[in-house]
Amino acid sequence: TSTLDIQSIREDFPALATTMRGKDLIYFDNGATSLKPRPVLEALQGYYGDYSANIHRGVYEMSERATAAYDNARETIRRFLGVSPEQGEVIFTRGTTESINLVAYSWAVKFLKPGDEILLTAMEHHSNIVPWQYVAQRTGAVLRYIPMTPEGAFTDEALCGALGPRVRLVAITAMSNVTGYMPSLEGLVARARHQGARVLVDGAQYACHHAVNVTALDCDFFAFSGHKMCGPTGIGVLYAKRELLEEMDPFHYGGDMIQEVTLEGSTWAHLPEKFEAGTPHIAGAVGMAAAAEYLLEIGLEEIAAHEGDLLRYVTEATERLSYLRPFGPAALERRGGIFSFALEGVHPHDVGSLLDQQGIAVRTGFHCAQPLMAHFGVVGTVRASFYLYNTREEIDRFVAALERLYGILG
Ligand code: PMP
Repeated sequence: TSTLDIQSIREDFPALATTMRGKDLIYFDNGATSLKPRPVLEALQGYYGDYSANIHRGVYEMSERATAAYDNARETIRRFLGVSPEQGEVIFTRGTTESINLVAYSWAVKFLKPGDEILLTAMEHHSNIVPWQYVAQRTGAVLRYIPMTPEGAFTDEALCGALGPRVRLVAITAMSNVTGYMPSLEGLVARARHQGARVLVDGAQYACHHAVNVTALDCDFFAFSGHKMCGPTGIGVLYAKRELLEEMDPFHYGGDMIQEVTLEGSTWAHLPEKFEAGTPHIAGAVGMAAAAEYLLEIGLEEIAAHEGDLLRYVTEATERLSYLRPFGPAALERRGGIFSFALEGVHPHDVGSLLDQQGIAVRTGFHCAQPLMAHFGVVGTVRASFYLYNTREEIDRFVAALERLYGILG
């Protein structure tokens, strides 16, 4: 059971009061994006309504205010990630996808050589596969995949055994967006670092539900998105080690990222500006920081525990449904609050449509993870993904709806 005051948390989210198809909304599509609490909406309104000036160039008070808010936002994200300033820096991007592309273009294309290996997994989101396929084409580097168990997990032997001497980069998700599986990264990172390989962690699904400390984890890169952690869309973060950011080339070129421009050439600004060309998403950064504050105040460990409880609850409540096939490792303690499943003989899309009629929002399809679908031998799944505001009562309504719809379709 949960230590959170869910009722008061729910009141923070205006969207939870809306209806869908005339029914009280049950929002189980948090893996795609989360709803937004009032403090985030107020932070956005504050920037746009009160001080919506550009940053870093105004000599007037309103611009100073915007600059301070943007700089404070970065400070809050540093705290959220446990960044030590000597070790690393926070770069604002458009989201996880852009953060990974930044590393692909500015680090991998520059430094990887033919025959170098990039180690991935088949459970990655497309945004942690496709950029590396591009890098492989550009550089002659080779992609390799850590062997996965049939249920979609990695044994310690598989994780460590895959780290051959030619691996220069390991790019792995901290939590699968399909199964919620969380591979144990500590040993992998330590071993990779020991042999001189760099490690990129895709934290898109993880950072919104679990406390992160990138200094303790010692990864080289950590990418995540604002919109999955109660923040706005269009904003995300790349954390990277300082030494790497110094040796990387800029990703985008233009204003704000330069020190000096002449007609002959330019020099680059210091970190983090070197990687933030153009007017940034100021409101986004301010809103994402408000989201980080909100989650820190509630407590990420409590949030993770609540979602773990919901996962156990839905797993137990559906065990007796013989026609329901859940996906993902059976060991629930290594899984976040994501429940992916199929109903025998029913297309996932039909399940989604009928749940929609009941006011229940889930995602169906391949979840930007086609290689994982191929591994499971399915074209898609139905995915219910939970967040801090979801409840056991909602799961009861969801399971009852599944039973009813299987009675119609099955
Ligand atoms: N990685 C994972 C594991 C994800 O779940 C997602 C979003 N579904 C992404 C990357 C991409 O994030 P974004 O669309 O915010 O760039």
